[in-house]
Amino acid sequence: MDAAGIDRWIRAFATAVAENEGMLTRLDSAIGDADHGSNLARGLKAVLAKLDGSPPEGPAALLKQTGMTLVSSVGGASGALYGTFFLRMATAAGATDALDQAGFAAALRAGVDGIVARGKAEAGDKTMYDALAPAVDALDAALGGEDFAGALRAAAAAAAAGRDATTPLQARKGRASYLGERSIGHQDPGATSAALLIAAAADTLG
Ligand code: ADP
Ligand code: MG
Repeated sequence: MDAAGIDRWIRAFATAVAENEGMLTRLDSAIGDADHGSNLARGLKAVLAKLDGSPPEGPAALLKQTGMTLVSSVGGASGALYGTFFLRMATAAGATDALDQAGFAAALRAGVDGIVARGKAEAGDKTMYDALAPAVDALDAALGGEDFAGALRAAAAAAAAGRDATTPLQARKGRASYLGERSIGHQDPGATSAALLIAAAADTLG
């Protein structure tokens, strides 16, 4: 994956968030403060403006710019968390013109680890981590074969399953945790956007 591949991925994520902005905000209105869709859409619009303006060279610089832009343009937990994700991915990618499959998987895992370092989420807390953790596990498990596209599709399927599995959970992190048992029965907005992120990778990087 060279910078053009990462650029395609981020643009596909931005498109998916724009298309699903209303749905993400609706989910956040049930167990949060009704801003997840607008938060991410605003942040990704700023990211796209930078990509269109002066796209940095190399995957790491592009990921870093994306992370910095999200941190600075998105209020709310998700700006810091997605921002950290891309910044950690950038660090893990290092100075290379193109990541190979294992390098991409390792960078993705480093990004997810960054979200944990920042937000302290554990599995089952009903957060974006519940979609991302099974996705990186599925990607690693499927890696090494010929079929990277298939490995990414497996990761996207795992993220979607993780997203769906947040519905019966009680939130233990973030705003939704303030609701206690009333958070049960609602799909987590951040897990929903995280599944869009992995689906975008499967659509563009395979
Ligand atoms: P805010 O909660 O500040 O309004 P958003 O609405 O944009 O921010 O994002 C909410 C999402 O952020 C939640 O659905 C959840 O997935 C995720 N989230 C919140 N806190 C954490 C955390 N500590 N670790 C991981 N994800 C979290
Ligand atoms: Mg919110």
